[in-house]
Amino acid sequence: MKRFLCLIMMAAVLLCCAGCAKPHSATVYAMDTVMDLQVWGKDGEKALESLQAVIKEMESTWSAASEESDLRQNALPQQSRAVMEFAIQLQERTWGSFDPRLGGAVQAWGFYDKNYTVPTQEQLRDGIRSGQWDLGGMLKGYTGDQCVKALEQLAVDRAILNLGGNVQTYGQKPDGTPWSIGIQNPDGGDPVGVVSVVGTMAVVTSGDYQRYFEKDGVRYHHILDPYTGMPARSGLRSVTVICRDGATADALSTALFVMGLEQATEFWRGSDDFEAVFITDDGSIYATQGAALSGCEYEVIARED
Ligand code: AMP
Ligand code: MG
Repeated sequence: MKRFLCLIMMAAVLLCCAGCAKPHSATVYAMDTVMDLQVWGKDGEKALESLQAVIKEMESTWSAASEESDLRQNALPQQSRAVMEFAIQLQERTWGSFDPRLGGAVQAWGFYDKNYTVPTQEQLRDGIRSGQWDLGGMLKGYTGDQCVKALEQLAVDRAILNLGGNVQTYGQKPDGTPWSIGIQNPDGGDPVGVVSVVGTMAVVTSGDYQRYFEKDGVRYHHILDPYTGMPARSGLRSVTVICRDGATADALSTALFVMGLEQATEFWRGSDDFEAVFITDDGSIYATQGAALSGCEYEVIARED
């Protein structure tokens, strides 16, 4: 009996250690942002290498900003067609608010080479007409999906990847508690609240504070209205989307930002695959009823009015 008790105690200690074990971690600079990778499990180091390879490959294939990428060199591999078709589906699903061919307009603002300038209406019109591909609105989310596929091939218990504002979780915490992901305050400082998710999930934020420049006292950010090519002024500062599929989460966060709260609410009511958190220009917070948001006051968006 004593021996049995001893074994149980040892098992409990081992379980506890697995729960509080230190992650294998790495920081990567890619896609013009800092990415933090944390992985738990036997294959932790191997996983970090695989993840970095996935991220680099995604960047060298799809970067719209780099003239060296396969996309800009017109040298995309055959299998990339499926990604482009998925992007077009997301464009149709979001009533055109997500537009994967806005590259000409993004470039006209100088967001690629950071040589910022305010383009004329004509330059923006020409930019939109060029139909140049730019998957920047879904690339980090799609990269998260590819990272999950890589992790599934390895002995990894769980992971949390922060791909520059795009968070991808993988697996369960041993004690069953959810992952907690902070929602950034658009004005900086502490997060305004925390979203909890269980298991493998993408939590992706689009915000006007993530990439912008100022000219003559006006702030121009990087999320463009596809019809005008101007930075979308929809009354929102940020949109966070919680969804199983990373590419969808990412495209939707961009699209809902363009739509604004009212249209985005209508869109959410017609969908069943995501939840969202919105921060408006006046700092008010809204969350759809399935978003597990805590740590702040907010208004719940219900399925029906
Ligand atoms: P995100 O940070 O995911 O909201 O994506 C913003 C990036 O996507 C920008 O830096 C552009 O490269 C691109 N983009 C800007 N506006 C749009 C849009 N309306 N639809 C799709 N991509 C966009
Ligand atoms: Mg996006």
